[in-house]
Amino acid sequence: MRCTVIGNWGGCCRKNEACSGYLLTHDGFHLLLDCGSGVLSVLQNVIDLNDLHHVFLSHYHFDHYSDAGCAVYSRLVNTQIGRTSQKLRFYALENEEKFSELTWEPYSDVTAVAASDRIQIGPFSCTFHKTLHPVDCLAIRVEAGGKSLVYTADTGYCEELAAFAENADLLISECSLYAPAGGEKSGHLNAEQAGLLGARASCQTLLLSHLPLYGDLEQLRVQAQKNYHGRLLLASKLMTIDL
Ligand SMILES: [Zn+2]
Ligand SMILES: [Zn+2]
Repeated sequence: MRCTVIGNWGGCCRKNEACSGYLLTHDGFHLLLDCGSGVLSVLQNVIDLNDLHHVFLSHYHFDHYSDAGCAVYSRLVNTQIGRTSQKLRFYALENEEKFSELTWEPYSDVTAVAASDRIQIGPFSCTFHKTLHPVDCLAIRVEAGGKSLVYTADTGYCEELAAFAENADLLISECSLYAPAGGEKSGHLNAEQAGLLGARASCQTLLLSHLPLYGDLEQLRVQAQKNYHGRLLLASKLMTIDL
């Protein structure tokens, strides 16, 4: 399984970059985790949009789903000009009206996912965990080829999430804040908490992402390493990690 970071910024993205988006590829099959602002543009450095057929959306905050609508428009246009005949399939929570907007027959549709579900998307076995966030939000665990990847999406700190991520080969943890700022109210992690999550999960590699737009990003690494002593990476545009 290959993970390509398409976007690594929380809230808004830097020039020519993107908010949350991670492309998973295994045996030529692609699954995009989140589709925030800028993701469709950056993604085209890696694959043609007509080769993307499966998109998981963790929650309905703009930095995680705002490009989903344009992905549907892309599929509409490219279907009408004969460049693809495959539907774009979303997987998302169904508790908001935005859920129904993801379906535009015959170009796209959406499958409802809940925290208790186990679903198969191509070669990827997927399970989910509800996170601590002001709106409903799902973390996802993806297994393929004997490897596992966990993406926290947006969350405050909780031990249950560490258990969900146990022994992951790659844990993509949100890291929205510099310690000592806490994200208890906003439902986010600071770098020390992200490190603690990685340590409790005993993950092989911890990737800090959903990064703040301000400050010295290297401080995030230093803070996370107070708690996590394994392989630690700071996400950046088009970084690839092979599992
Ligand atoms: Zn976010
Ligand atoms: Zn959010």
